[in-house]
Amino acid sequence: MTTVATEHKSDDIVTEEFDVLIVGAGVAGVGGAYHLSTQRPNGSFVVLESQESFGGTWWSHNYPGIRSDSDLHTYGYKFKPWTGPPIATAEEILKYMGEVINENDLASHIRYKHRIESASWSSEKNKWFIQAELTDTGEKKYFTANFLWMCQGYYRHSEGYTPDWPEMDSYQGEIVHTETWPKDLVYEGKKVIVIGSGASSATLIPAIAEKCEHVTLVQRSPIYYSTGRNRDDLAETLRELDVDPDWIHEIVRRKILRDTAIFFKRTLEKPDEVREELLNGIRNVLGPDYEIEPHFTPDYKPWRQRVAYVPDADFFESIKAGYVSVVTDEIETFTETGVVLKSGETHDADIVVTATGFNMNVLGDIDFTIDDEPLVLSDTVTYRGMMFTGVPNLLWVFGYFRGSWTYRADLLADFVCRLLTHMEARGAPRVEVRLRDEDKDMELLPWQDPESFNPSYLLRAMPFLPKSGAKPEWHHSQDYWEDTQVIPAIDLDGDEFIYQ
Ligand SMILES: Cc1cc2nc3c(=O)[nH]c(=O)nc-3n(C[C@H](O)[C@H](O)[C@H](O)COP(=O)(O)OP(=O)(O)OC[C@H]3O[C@@H](n4cnc5c(N)ncnc54)[C@H](O)[C@@H]3O)c2cc1C
Repeated sequence: MTTVATEHKSDDIVTEEFDVLIVGAGVAGVGGAYHLSTQRPNGSFVVLESQESFGGTWWSHNYPGIRSDSDLHTYGYKFKPWTGPPIATAEEILKYMGEVINENDLASHIRYKHRIESASWSSEKNKWFIQAELTDTGEKKYFTANFLWMCQGYYRHSEGYTPDWPEMDSYQGEIVHTETWPKDLVYEGKKVIVIGSGASSATLIPAIAEKCEHVTLVQRSPIYYSTGRNRDDLAETLRELDVDPDWIHEIVRRKILRDTAIFFKRTLEKPDEVREELLNGIRNVLGPDYEIEPHFTPDYKPWRQRVAYVPDADFFESIKAGYVSVVTDEIETFTETGVVLKSGETHDADIVVTATGFNMNVLGDIDFTIDDEPLVLSDTVTYRGMMFTGVPNLLWVFGYFRGSWTYRADLLADFVCRLLTHMEARGAPRVEVRLRDEDKDMELLPWQDPESFNPSYLLRAMPFLPKSGAKPEWHHSQDYWEDTQVIPAIDLDGDEFIYQ
């Protein structure tokens, strides 16, 4: 496979030309590179990544304890078996991704420290013109591509979201966001406040609690947690039987998918029963005297936000051991020494960790134009959460909120390769989706139904996201089982696709 198709020089500007340009070398981008190299070996492609190495989320986050909360049988790629315990550390995930890159000679396709600033579609040339900046020297680099594969993830890697609390500037200690954790931060022997409920707090806290003087978790409202061992019995049995790792991967993936689907169905049909089960998992560790109410009793139904998996209940064990106190309250103000809560309670700390979420990165924070007109994404309608009306030759990878992101990345990768082959067969350099006549009166809705899934980063970004429609084609399904059937069967000659 060629890395560079051609190089074009004019007025001292060198433009490299590729068939496909992938934005980002996280799990989605590296998976995309694998699929292109195996399914379209005669095409040229490049991956541009603004960070210094591959991994995306797993490269940029380095707070203590960082790990997946999905199992790696389903979070791993379908084409490379996962052979370790289900929940993995960032380091283990990076090692796995590194193996994918090495085993498939993908390194020469990836350019690091390339932050894409702008992407302009030209209908005259049927190409995207891309400008990137080298993050170390500021030098500009120019590329063209016939197809843009957006694997930019869903949040900004350079900064986390921190609410603007009163008097934060007066605080004399250190404020640290989990997303930009300084590697040299000394927390040992210190009093630490962690603000925010969520998977990040639940993984950070057990990793630091024993070494700190004390950790106080301050959360406005609780989320759901599920607990269990970091072991998959079926995988272990199959390994003992010396079954081929490829088979084990596929069998365990199917089992986990089925179990997840059953669980999700139960959350819809019997939410109270599921809620009690989840709360009982916590009660079993913390004992009957612990104030489960209000600290671990969310006021929403299970699955309206992601349920955080806590392997070996380590987060709850650190509470039980007395290293961690939980406070469910809102911050009124910062002081020089800590925080005052709405209840009037004060808490002092040497370090305040804000585990308060993300700022969504919509299309990689890239300035998009189509034939010199700025792209207003919120004016478009999404086609199955991956393409947008009026935006040619572009596919966006957005994974599942409730399941493993990589599932959808793999499914969409097959779709991109099929679409590119179809375009080639039709001799069409351009494809776009459009509302059909029968869709013209369709009710347009927010991109995701806030009643069904409503984390705050998504609610904050909703006005900037594409619309969805009341028909399945114009909706981003969060159902892997449905997608598995529907996406490979999409009729690429359907009326919703226009080729030129
Ligand atoms: C701490 C943490 C734990 C998580 N655990 C799980 C989990 O267990 N299961 C799960 O399903 N999901 C999990 N997620 C969600 C996670 O983000 C996704 O699983 C997955 O990593 C997304 O992969 P991605 O490749 O699409 O995006 P990312 O990992 O976000 O990678 C995108 C890459 O694109 C690059 N990029 C973006 N814009 C540009 C640009 N303009 N120019 C050049 N490069 C650009 C970024 O630098 C980045 O490296 C977790 C998220 C966090 C923060």
